[in-house]
Amino acid sequence: MAQTECIARLGGWEGYELESSMEERRGGTLWCVIRLKPVAGLARRCGGCGQLSRAIHDTELRRVRDLPLFEVPVELVVPRLRLACERCGPKLERLGWLEPYARVTSRLAASVARLCKLMSIAHVAQFYGLAWTTVKLIDHRHLERELGPVDLADVRIIAMDEFAIQKGHRYATVVVEPLRKRVLWVGRGRGRADVRAFSELLGPQGCAHLQAVAMDMNTAYELEVRLHCPQAQIVFDLFHVVAKYGREVIDRVRVDEANRLREDRPARRLVKGSRWLLLRNRENVTAQHDQVRLKELLAANRALFTVYVLKDDLKALWDYRHIGYAERFWRQWYRRAMRSGIAPLKTFAQRLKPYLPGILAHCRWPLGTNIVEGINNTIKVIKRMAYGYRDDAYFFLRIRAAFPGIR
Ligand SMILES: [Zn+2]
Repeated sequence: MAQTECIARLGGWEGYELESSMEERRGGTLWCVIRLKPVAGLARRCGGCGQLSRAIHDTELRRVRDLPLFEVPVELVVPRLRLACERCGPKLERLGWLEPYARVTSRLAASVARLCKLMSIAHVAQFYGLAWTTVKLIDHRHLERELGPVDLADVRIIAMDEFAIQKGHRYATVVVEPLRKRVLWVGRGRGRADVRAFSELLGPQGCAHLQAVAMDMNTAYELEVRLHCPQAQIVFDLFHVVAKYGREVIDRVRVDEANRLREDRPARRLVKGSRWLLLRNRENVTAQHDQVRLKELLAANRALFTVYVLKDDLKALWDYRHIGYAERFWRQWYRRAMRSGIAPLKTFAQRLKPYLPGILAHCRWPLGTNIVEGINNTIKVIKRMAYGYRDDAYFFLRIRAAFPGIR
């Protein structure tokens, strides 16, 4: 008797007491099945209005999972009471430890949600012996409650970026507050109509408060921001410009050079295998043999040397805080690019020129582009862990949860 009392007390099933507990073998697994019964004579709270009531309309037996006991999975058999509430009519009793229609107790749900921050759904499901869909639903609800509606008051500076939901097609847009490292909004698509939902969420007043919006060049976002927030300054961020330079200049020159070196096989191999080395930030090339290889490559190849040096110099443009100096630096950079005799570099410089105001705007609004880069990387990780890949709502909540913001 003392034993069952102990279990009931530690169980904390408020309003219920232990009727029996027994072991049961299911498949190869030992289970602990605990039957509960309502404590007699208690007034109970209506799940609708919260009023206390003693009138019970009917009872239905439910089987729910609770936290395991000494690694043994626990199943509760709970008579769920429907009260005859004077105000609401028949209503489920409100319980602090069990949500209406939940398959698991609130504390098991909390534990599942905690683990979901560290592991994939599949691993959590396996750990607790729950269905994948159950774990996902628990985490989804938990995130909704934890994150709540986003607070858009006092948002002055934002960054917008797109990402692929599936490789090559189906895009989504993420809006972040770079200074507070916070995701404000995620939505399907990357067109003007798609991101209008965010302007609507912000409302005319919120739109009028925006001071600066960081983004990639040549996007639908720019048109949409100019329409709804004409006073906001468009800022083109370093991350996208450098990524574009990598694709359109370094990659092209590397391929051209490899083709040119068709007769010189060792030199050709060195150039062909250098993609990673050339695109990486110089400070991230740390291994000594990589540094030596980079040095050799740049010493032997004039075109690659030129585009590599101009990449580093282009990045330096984002270090300026004085618009006049930045403009002078840009003119010098542009001249060097145009005189290089390297066609992809010249084309890039010419295409970049019309975007100069948005690049120089960075002097006034020095927004960290690392947040955009960081979010891009985090999204990749979330996708890789197959968090609700087919479920936008859950996937987007996960992205928000990864960047809840700093105060
Ligand atoms: Zn009620």
